[in-house]
Amino acid sequence: MSLFVGPTDHAGVRPSMAILTLHHVSKVFATDNGSGQVVAVNDVSLNVDSGGFFSIIGPSGCGKSTLLRIIGGLLDPSSGELTVGGEPVKGPHPWIGMVFQEESTFPWRTTLGNVEFGLEMRGVSPTQRRAKAREMIRLVGLSGFEERYPSELSGGMKQRVAIARALVLEPKILLMDEPFGALDEQTRIILGEELLRIRDELKQTIMLVTHNINESVQLSDRVMVMTARPGRVKEVVFIDLPHPRDSSIIASDRFGHLVAQVWSALREESIKSFKQTEQAH
Ligand code: ADP
Repeated sequence: MSLFVGPTDHAGVRPSMAILTLHHVSKVFATDNGSGQVVAVNDVSLNVDSGGFFSIIGPSGCGKSTLLRIIGGLLDPSSGELTVGGEPVKGPHPWIGMVFQEESTFPWRTTLGNVEFGLEMRGVSPTQRRAKAREMIRLVGLSGFEERYPSELSGGMKQRVAIARALVLEPKILLMDEPFGALDEQTRIILGEELLRIRDELKQTIMLVTHNINESVQLSDRVMVMTARPGRVKEVVFIDLPHPRDSSIIASDRFGHLVAQVWSALREESIKSFKQTEQAH
């Protein structure tokens, strides 16, 4: 992990170390009635270090999900450029996988069937895909639950299935949009710890969108704080907590200090966003 110091207009590290870069990316949507425009993302540049854990935090509606969907190739930017592995990209890239907050498992498929799905789509043989899926199910701690349907699993377990389903395709970069948003605090902390363990094992790069400050500090190497809409880069907080990192880190003084640092960058933006929302009503 590099600690970049020096002038840059980019949030993150030197471009040469980066697996993913965004150059002056903006996104403008037409409003529902077609009479106006919403600037959802405003001139965001960032570099994500290979093997890094990069979180994006910001007030609700500031453009975090839009940014992640642009990176995942689900949306085109209105302007700006993205590179993956140094190459400009348009649309979905094979190195990139995604996990969303909303229920993203198929209720009619078992754990094994869900995790196998992407490999099936890729035409991998049944024997091979079953072996890979079982290995991934083990890695996310769901061995013994291969034949269960989502309705027989807890929220945390379903989210593990969703994570295994993305990981089995071996993405070099995993994008996660509030993956633990619907879970209770303790489950969220434990799953976060497991995510770091898996990340260390698979050597992946992870980008996480979250509105949870503690979660961003627990998991990340860098936390990018966005402004209230239209979302720009406000500040990048470097999280210098050691690795391997387990959830006991939450009790440390340094953790508390970093949480305070993220909040001090975020506070003013949250107040602005709150006022924007109040004015809209
Ligand atoms: P966040 O993830 O930070 O809560 P979003 O990226 O979901 O924010 O949304 C940013 C802004 O863009 C919001 O004002 C939202 O209403 C608007 N927006 C998002 N998607 C669309 C869309 N498809 N069409 C129009 N406006 C959109």
